[in-house]
Amino acid sequence: MKAAVFHKPGQITYDQVADPRIEAAGDVILRVTSTAICGSDLHILSGAVPQKEEMIMGHEFMGIVEEVGPAVRNLKRGDRVVVPFPISCGHCFFCNHGASPSCENSNYKHYGPNGDLMDQKGAALFGYTDLYGGYSGGQAEYVRVPYADISPRIIPDNITDEQALFLTDIFPTGWSAIDWAQLKGGEVVAIFGSGPVGLMAQKAAWLNGAGRVIAIDPLDYRLEKAKAVNKVDILNPHKVDVIEAIREMTGGRGADVCVDAVGFEPERNFLDKVKATVNFEKGSIKVLDMCFKAVRRSGTVSIMGVYGSPYDNFPLHRIFDKGITIKQGQAPVLNYIDKLIELVKEEKVVLDDIITHTLPLSEVAHGYQIFDEKQEDCVKVVLKP
Ligand code: NAD
Ligand code: ZN
Ligand code: ZN
Repeated sequence: MKAAVFHKPGQITYDQVADPRIEAAGDVILRVTSTAICGSDLHILSGAVPQKEEMIMGHEFMGIVEEVGPAVRNLKRGDRVVVPFPISCGHCFFCNHGASPSCENSNYKHYGPNGDLMDQKGAALFGYTDLYGGYSGGQAEYVRVPYADISPRIIPDNITDEQALFLTDIFPTGWSAIDWAQLKGGEVVAIFGSGPVGLMAQKAAWLNGAGRVIAIDPLDYRLEKAKAVNKVDILNPHKVDVIEAIREMTGGRGADVCVDAVGFEPERNFLDKVKATVNFEKGSIKVLDMCFKAVRRSGTVSIMGVYGSPYDNFPLHRIFDKGITIKQGQAPVLNYIDKLIELVKEEKVVLDDIITHTLPLSEVAHGYQIFDEKQEDCVKVVLKP
């Protein structure tokens, strides 16, 4: 089959690879009909999340069940499904406690970036390096889905791929960021980053009763997109003092909730090692610091952006003084997906309005380039195998 293969930082190409096959009785093989590139994939592309071996990319995908392992009960050949990005067994301590991205049984490898064993087993994700279990991803014609009775959800035929695809990751991810803040109604929600995850958090904020939603991003074309599809207020940190502006909008108090939908942005150098050093003056660590400044006392900061290294000068004094609640982590997609499928079915939310590029999978390298470098006003790339 053909697939998008990571070779080394900066190099993802469309290659001929071996077909996946059923490896455990609970597996299915999916024929992928649509797959998307995620901001998290860019961390692998940059080398910030390291991978030594070649690997098939992709954790946002859906398709048609092609082959079914002998133990699978809930799916049959021909079913059309979306597949949540965390791989989970469905019966361990963490799966039973609503924390499926911490599943104890899915990540068999559990070694860290330097080949050293991690202190505890952790999440497994599709197409997300040996650190996360070493599974092949779904930016491919076919993909093996383990524990197929647990996560995949059947999608009715009258919902398009484009409306269903983001149920795999970014809509539940944006939803988590808001759900973690437990809105009561009327809150001011400031969302830093207006990429795909930020756009989904904006939708989730409205659906959860926010009174005002503010999008912050240095890219005007992404702010315009946010305004057009989600009717939010917009702030460009290159043009205004965002903290001051948010305080002005909230009677000096600050936003009830701040969401970091930006994450780790290492200085990159594809030829050399990625410099994973971070400081408060550069990139997105600055965003996190802005969240702590912009949030009101006893407010919530939801960190959906991925962070990949420890850092100094963490503003514990401010977090303590303001009594800020912080929530962070891989989105527990399984906690929300059934409710979110209902919202899509009932047409209470439109998800496909963030797609700017639909490309054949053969053009995956171009897709990564425009999404990474923010060219061609790219917001979200969908690939068709
Ligand atoms: P993206 O790169 O398309 O979007 C990031 C946005 O942040 C861009 O629009 C960029 O212009 C903006 N940005 C950069 N610097 C900024 C600043 N100083 N202030 C405000 N905005 C700034 O990526 P995405 O697909 O939207 O993903 C965003 C983050 O969410 C990534 O770190 C990704 O890994 C993470 N993510 C996490 C989960 C999870 O489960 N926690 C799931 C999916 C994605
Ligand atoms: Zn993702
Ligand atoms: Zn489990």
